[in-house]
Amino acid sequence: MNDKDILMDALKFHGHKCWASVVGVRAGLAALRTLGVPRSGGTQLFAVVETGEEHGGMCFGDGVQYGTGCTFGKGNLSKKPLGKLAVTLIEKDSNCAVRVSYKPTLRKQIAESAFMQKRAAGIMADEIPEEEQMELVNLVWGALEDDVITIGEVFEYDGNWLPEVMGFQPCGVCGEMTALAYLRVVGTKQMCIPCSGYER
Ligand SMILES: [Zn+2]
Ligand SMILES: [Zn+2]
Repeated sequence: MNDKDILMDALKFHGHKCWASVVGVRAGLAALRTLGVPRSGGTQLFAVVETGEEHGGMCFGDGVQYGTGCTFGKGNLSKKPLGKLAVTLIEKDSNCAVRVSYKPTLRKQIAESAFMQKRAAGIMADEIPEEEQMELVNLVWGALEDDVITIGEVFEYDGNWLPEVMGFQPCGVCGEMTALAYLRVVGTKQMCIPCSGYER
């Protein structure tokens, strides 16, 4: 897949077209290139995203997910909530890592755009006209990489990766399929966490 296809697919997945998700795609692709690795089809890579909760620009995280292939569903993505548009990408085999962060060169242009004016007025991103959404996508995608992100030095990550435990078994009480690592023993029965009464 070429980079433009990855971008357009990422925006489709994301639900609307916005500057922060484009920054996320660019950060993800730059991190892959810096580590010399392909997108994570399996769980070869792990991403730590620094966006927090309930703030602007969190869309960055979806761009990172699609750009790197590190996803919520595959479990090779975690949040370190610092309220920053930054990601550390790690190749698990080698523990080689790089941190890529947003550089606000285009901040004024983004803030003054029709898209951001409408967002500030409380209009949902996907309800803003398509051409106003695309204005910022084109601005951020078309800018020089050095005006959009800062790429750190490659460093060794202190990774402690747990092996994947395969298999499910039905809970002895509610009968719902539960991953083996999440079954708890109560008396002679194996149970899911809610049925067991344990907290975790
Ligand atoms: Zn968005
Ligand atoms: Zn149960």
